[in-house]
Amino acid sequence: METLSLADAIERIRNPKPNQKPFAVFTLDDGYKDNLNYGQPIFEKLNCPYTVFVAPKIVDASCELWWRALEKIISSNSQFSSTIDGVRYDLDIRSEVQKKHAWNVLFPKLAATPEYDQRKTIHELASRYNFDLVEYCKSVAMTWDEIRKMNEDPLCTIGAHTMNHYAVAKLSAADCLYELEESRRCIERELGEKIHFFAYPYGDEPAAGPRDFQIANDLGFTASLTTRKGVVFEKHGKHLQALPRIMVSGRYQKIRYIDALISGAPTALLNRFKQVNVS
Ligand SMILES: [Zn+2]
Repeated sequence: METLSLADAIERIRNPKPNQKPFAVFTLDDGYKDNLNYGQPIFEKLNCPYTVFVAPKIVDASCELWWRALEKIISSNSQFSSTIDGVRYDLDIRSEVQKKHAWNVLFPKLAATPEYDQRKTIHELASRYNFDLVEYCKSVAMTWDEIRKMNEDPLCTIGAHTMNHYAVAKLSAADCLYELEESRRCIERELGEKIHFFAYPYGDEPAAGPRDFQIANDLGFTASLTTRKGVVFEKHGKHLQALPRIMVSGRYQKIRYIDALISGAPTALLNRFKQVNVS
């Protein structure tokens, strides 16, 4: 297995060579400081190319990071009372079991709330539970100087990830276009170089669909990445705005699962042996 930069991988997908080795591409979303502090030294040691997808409003600390804020609010309070998208919740969240239950109830609810209302709701929760969204975002996100520093690494590619980290399929076409185009423009201005790649925030079926793949294509991105689960096949050469990925995270996967996942067998089952899932 070879590790390639995203640009080299796209070249391989477009012009496959006979008997080419399998390859993997590492990507990291959002642009957190731990990418620089923990990720980069490891990629450097292994001489492994990587791509970081950056959302400018996260860098500017004006993105709510609502899923992390919700987790923090649940973990540091003993009672949760609020109305979310018309549904009243009064939850005792003292014990670990209760906190886990609250997360399992509230996270999907907030995830399914329309994008702009969802952000309004997390602002209300943050002010009620004394959680400083701006300070929190600032504490975990890379600054532009840190992103520029990371980008000096020849192994690093920076890509765009919308301005506000919205699930673009839930936005109007005009708002989706704005999020993609403006994030690219903003990163290009900050880094002084062209940006060719994009990743859809959240990236699963409800978060990014065919309309959004078309918008990314019309904007001239070389390739865009979803989180639809799967491995890459030659056929993806015709679907470069909807490339699949496999999520690797300590929270969900043990290291021994990774070999199985990159074999493509579990995701082939999941996709019912259809190599390309773009509808
Ligand atoms: Zn993201």
